[in-house]
Amino acid sequence: MKTIRSLVAMRRWRESAEGRVVLVPTMGALHHGHAALIRRARRLAGSRGKVVVTIFVNPRQFGPLEDFASYPRPLARDLTLCAENGANVVFHPSAEAMYCGEASVWVDEGVLSQTLCGKSRAGHFRGVCTVVAKLFLLAQPSDAVFGEKDWQQLAILRRMVQDLNFSVRVLGHPTVREADGLATSSRNAYLTAGERRDAARIFQELQAAASRPGRPDQVTRVASTGIAKIPGARIDYVEAVDVATLEPLKNRTTSGRLAAAVYLGRSRLIDNVPLPVVS
Ligand code: AMP
Repeated sequence: MKTIRSLVAMRRWRESAEGRVVLVPTMGALHHGHAALIRRARRLAGSRGKVVVTIFVNPRQFGPLEDFASYPRPLARDLTLCAENGANVVFHPSAEAMYCGEASVWVDEGVLSQTLCGKSRAGHFRGVCTVVAKLFLLAQPSDAVFGEKDWQQLAILRRMVQDLNFSVRVLGHPTVREADGLATSSRNAYLTAGERRDAARIFQELQAAASRPGRPDQVTRVASTGIAKIPGARIDYVEAVDVATLEPLKNRTTSGRLAAAVYLGRSRLIDNVPLPVVS
């Protein structure tokens, strides 16, 4: 496995790479959720293709009060995980290499990013779209794999690819969970032992509510009521949305997603589950 740090070296590698190139963008602090994405990329790339994992804690997607400085950066462990799961290249640029000075050009999705997490994380998706567009231009992948855990991000990136005519196939990978159902996340490490125990209830309440046949607003109310009972939990949102447009779901005749963001201790946890059609 090769580690690349400079943009020039990344471009040079890409020019000589043959076969499919499958990209897995990450911020590092890799866990078995990321490992599943890398293995999926490996299967897609086949024996002749190449898997590129990017590790970049992107300063432009963090708000001023968010955890950019304290975000974990265990690079040696991350490189081992990438190698063990079949990556050919890890692209790990510095912020200085990725961004030269103040940006005046951004990739800004204007509709889907206004809802859900976009309301409390101003500028977050603009930072995500900009960095992913740059990674697409540098690595020129045929496919890119993203986690369904970040459903809104996935929907926005699909939209970006469509609107900007990137010839990249965006693939969503199902959320990888801990044994009790909590979505695996680098930020789970911020939870105390008690919070960690309670955190699993977010998924359990979403699942229980989504398995009911009621109208979207009833399902949302049931989930909110359950999550509000978790000690110390503060709900940012619980919403039933259309899978692609992220608009509020009006009925159960099309598939939706029941999504939540919940503050627990110093963590902000997000999760989502399918909201199936009810006939
Ligand atoms: P991050 O490093 O948090 O930016 O995540 C990098 C990619 O891994 C994103 O596409 C995430 O959606 C995905 N990811 C993170 N956690 C999980 C998980 N538990 N299951 C599936 N995908 C995940």
